[in-house]
Amino acid sequence: MVNIILLGPPGAGKGTQAKRLVDERQMVQLSTGDMLREARNSGTEMGRVVAAVMDRGDLVTDEIVIGLIAEKLDHAAAGGFIFDGFPRTLKQADALGDLLASKGQSLAAVVEMQVDDAALVARITGRFTCGNCGAVYHDHTHPTAKPGVCDACGSTNLKRRADDTEDALKVRLMEYYKKTSPLIGYYYAKDKLTSVDGLAEVGAVAAAIAKVLDRG
Ligand code: ADP
Ligand code: ZN
Repeated sequence: MVNIILLGPPGAGKGTQAKRLVDERQMVQLSTGDMLREARNSGTEMGRVVAAVMDRGDLVTDEIVIGLIAEKLDHAAAGGFIFDGFPRTLKQADALGDLLASKGQSLAAVVEMQVDDAALVARITGRFTCGNCGAVYHDHTHPTAKPGVCDACGSTNLKRRADDTEDALKVRLMEYYKKTSPLIGYYYAKDKLTSVDGLAEVGAVAAAIAKVLDRG
């Protein structure tokens, strides 16, 4: 059971790599962003609270996201967990360490995906996804073959995230540098950190992550 964290700014490609690992290694992706988007669509009180916070680009409270992750860790994953977008603060990182330890588990590695800021803005402001199958596209670098239709499943339900605007992205980047980037030092000091070039093509990034995983 190999548990890893994918760490990096918004748009670094964490979700894309996590989905590959799910397909190729029977790992389970735990994306707090996806969980929060589900919560907001479910019409619950918690969903209403987090929706406004997310659309601004701010971080949701530690209590909420730690609670979401704690629930998921009750169901063991044969191939291990991929933490995608969690932890995002030092408090969340400490909580994850405690949660894993309480289940007799540990972290194998933290993979930092490095991407420069200009590339992030370009990536995110052109991004759209298929609401049916989750495929990810980009206006310039990866458009659908037929406008408005998903290549993978034929759905016409293509969506843009409410926080993938330039204004919200600036807030998300600032949150990343202020609150999340200290985790790079935190995991380095714990001997868990490996950095990969997130600007390489998707397959090359996947190969670099595979190397980390197979090192054991
Ligand atoms: P990205 O990595 O592209 O910014 P995510 O889907 O991971 O996108 O997260 C979207 C939003 O969800 C964040 O901007 C934040 O508001 C909220 N969020 C997700 N994960 C966390 C977390 N671990 N702690 C606090 N807020 C979170
Ligand atoms: Zn699709």
